[in-house]
Amino acid sequence: MAGMTSSARPHLNSRLAAFGTTIFAEMSALAVATGAINLGQGFPDTDGPEEIREAAVRALRDGRGNQYPPGPGVPELRSAIAAHQQHRYGLSWDPGTEVLVTAGATEAIAAALLALVEPGDEVVALEPYYDSYAASIAMAGGTRVPVTLRPHGERFRLDLDELRAAVTARTRLLLLNTPHNPTGTVLSRAELAAIAELAVERDLLVVTDEVYEHLVFDGAEHLPLAGFPGMRERTVSIGSAGKTFSFTGWKVGWVTGSPELVGAVRAVKQYLTYVASGPFQYAVAQALRLPDSYFEEFRADMRGKRELLADGLEQAGFTVFRPAGTYFITTDIRPLGESDGFAFCRALAERAGVVAIPNAVFYDHKETGAPYVRFAFCKRIEVLADATERLRKAFAR
Ligand code: PMP
Ligand code: GLN
Repeated sequence: MAGMTSSARPHLNSRLAAFGTTIFAEMSALAVATGAINLGQGFPDTDGPEEIREAAVRALRDGRGNQYPPGPGVPELRSAIAAHQQHRYGLSWDPGTEVLVTAGATEAIAAALLALVEPGDEVVALEPYYDSYAASIAMAGGTRVPVTLRPHGERFRLDLDELRAAVTARTRLLLLNTPHNPTGTVLSRAELAAIAELAVERDLLVVTDEVYEHLVFDGAEHLPLAGFPGMRERTVSIGSAGKTFSFTGWKVGWVTGSPELVGAVRAVKQYLTYVASGPFQYAVAQALRLPDSYFEEFRADMRGKRELLADGLEQAGFTVFRPAGTYFITTDIRPLGESDGFAFCRALAERAGVVAIPNAVFYDHKETGAPYVRFAFCKRIEVLADATERLRKAFAR
């Protein structure tokens, strides 16, 4: 990806030689070096609920999770994950065999791909794709086949015909992400139904990254693909506490799926980290049982922030794709007379005192992604107001 080139990493093996420093590390370092407001890397600038933070402190003090927790995760958390999926989506998972706790969604994605992909298998992923997908597919020896989401009015849309055409005899699995980072697209019931039909017809496995499941706006609905006909036994669903509870540093994620699929992922996971985040697992168990009002307030708060940043970006002259989900806004910089998102983002820290992410890093088709730039709105109101003011000033004509 962006950043350091392979020549700066002479020892990195050929599967990963193309992957330099992640864009998130590069851009967060740029924000620190320049004192710019960091709307690049997606992390909130306030912690999640105080009672959940206290639950972690209590677990630590009480000696729960300070030594290796059980490999699949602590029973309290596995039960809470199952109860949450039952309550939100009517999906029943056996906490004993169908739930696995991971070191964030990142480990879940890597472990799933390492478990399920044979060298040479094709993995179809929606482009732009979250950056760890490409690296994890490469680590598994798979071949990435991107299907590009294209702008259509205010949203980026999946072309189902393109998706169908991308599936070949070598396709092993589909790697989906909804709500989608970085475009903010939320796949609809009809789109998911069509994907499910395709997966059944072509006998594909599907890995779905649902870390933004609670961040959907304006009537958009998050639906887990595992709930569609024929999908329960072929879907690995991935979730994470980082986004939903605003504790991205705790790295508590999870996988749900059939005992066979979860067992395969667990077999790999035990040799990656074995276990992680002991005391935090107890706190996340409590968080998943927070009343519905927590999730509603979180969503309403983020929706207000989306409006503030989207309006500010529009006033500064960007074309804004108002997201139906996630806490990211993708913009088009061409109305500003710019076309290279990389150069734009590298200059933006000095030019406006704001840091953003060039979407091109999430594309194989770099030229397609070039004019798009992503801003995160999971920041305090006053920070967003300051950032939009800076952008308006920098681009005032
Ligand atoms: N998937 C997507 C789409 C993401 O945006 C992120 C970033 N948080 C992750 C996975 C990684 O999640 P975690 O921090 O739980 O590893
Ligand atoms: N998911 C976060 C984002 O898209 C970043 C996580 C990371 O730094 N790897 O901004």
